Amino acid sequence: MNLTRRHALFLAATPLLAQKRPRLAITMDDVRWPGVPGDRLLAHLGKTRAFLFAIGEAVDNPEGARILETWSAAGHRIGNHTWSHKPLFSSADPAAFEAEILRTEALLTRHSGFRKVFRFPALKEGQTREVRDRLRHFLKTHGYRNGAVTLDASDWFYDQQLRARLKADPAFDVTRFRQPYLDHIFDRARYYDQLSRDVFGRSVAHTLLVHYNLLNSLFLGDILAMFRARGWDIIDADDAFADPVFERQPDTAPAGESLLWALAKETGKFERRLRYPGEDDTYEKPVLEKLGLL
Ligand SMILES: [Zn+2]
Repeated sequence: MNLTRRHALFLAATPLLAQKRPRLAITMDDVRWPGVPGDRLLAHLGKTRAFLFAIGEAVDNPEGARILETWSAAGHRIGNHTWSHKPLFSSADPAAFEAEILRTEALLTRHSGFRKVFRFPALKEGQTREVRDRLRHFLKTHGYRNGAVTLDASDWFYDQQLRARLKADPAFDVTRFRQPYLDHIFDRARYYDQLSRDVFGRSVAHTLLVHYNLLNSLFLGDILAMFRARGWDIIDADDAFADPVFERQPDTAPAGESLLWALAKETGKFERRLRYPGEDDTYEKPVLEKLGLL
């Protein structure tokens, strides 16, 4: 290849190079705190500002209030994740679901980190267009944004299995879960980031979904270090949610999953790459089974 041609190729690639490094923010759900060394979670985040989506009934107690106060004081944001965490399946009553959002808001609003950002339990946003649009209208009327996830995963399942192992054997070597968990998260990151590039021609600012759990109290720091080592930037959750992709309201039913999953689904062009649900324990069981961790 001669120099002129190489130069031309470089120029052609320049607009892509400008945003070549993928960006990722941490969003952490539920705040079911018993048995979780929460201060370690906070320490893992360092200077990164995360979004904590709290279940009302999980934090309606002195320790829950202390956690939200501590996280607020450290500059993290607090979002609404319903009162009881019942997902919006077809059996759910939309009016009761809305009442839960308001009940949780009344509890969270006293914390300085609280912002009107709502995350749907299990990322289920309505099984029908009617329920989906009702909730979209409700959230808008009450000043809420959807705290959507672009990078979905099943950390909750790895946590569940880790705790089961510890219960059966208190001497169990927890570090056996480290690499499988890191591999799972990076595998999903590669998948959703490629989907972003293929649907939009760019890498959106990602929001990673993880949970307030034992697994992350052990390995969240390793997750962040892994992303940085592989050329990703870790950004504040507020900055990620400023990406225009979070204004999008895909026309899919059932509604929900990763926002990128739904936007890809809406195009009708990516069927072979879209499993449903997007993430679930059924995909992870064979992986942990093979490693002797199930
Ligand atoms: Zn949740």
